[in-house]
Amino acid sequence: MFLSVKEMEVRKVRFEETFQPGEIDFSSDAVTQSGPLRAEGVAELLANTDGEIRIKGRLSVTLEAECDRCLGRAQFHLDTGFDLFYRPSETLVVEPEVAIDEGEAEIGFYAGLGMELEDILREQVVLLLPLQRVCSADCKGICPVCGRNRNETSCNCRVEPANDRWNALREISRG
Ligand SMILES: [Zn+2]
Ligand SMILES: [Zn+2]
Repeated sequence: MFLSVKEMEVRKVRFEETFQPGEIDFSSDAVTQSGPLRAEGVAELLANTDGEIRIKGRLSVTLEAECDRCLGRAQFHLDTGFDLFYRPSETLVVEPEVAIDEGEAEIGFYAGLGMELEDILREQVVLLLPLQRVCSADCKGICPVCGRNRNETSCNCRVEPANDRWNALREISRG
């Protein structure tokens, strides 16, 4: 959905959209959307500014990624509000060496006649994703000895990294 500044000059633009998996491209972020992404809110042109836009709303989506520890499926449910401000790119002082990719709207400013809601939502979702992508906080991960998923099977491999570390320290202190 295109959020047109021209339209915002006349009235606030309300949106209430549902994007099915695949409609917004998350492939470069190693996540897939596992249900519809719902977004609703208002885009408005702020009075007494140089064309500054405020986009306020709420989004919810469920995403799936590979668990950092066990490589299984990790699910994330995001349901959050956002309140964003964008200035027209013409007001930016552009350093000569900074190339601006016109196909990609950077957060913080917009080019031309408005913004694609999809781009804004994609940025927000990527920002909201946790850095640690785990299937659960107590995921036991993969056994470094036999390679089994410890959440599914308990193996009898002896892994005592803590002891190894103490032994190594003892070796060092002995000189
Ligand atoms: Zn896991
Ligand atoms: Zn094992």
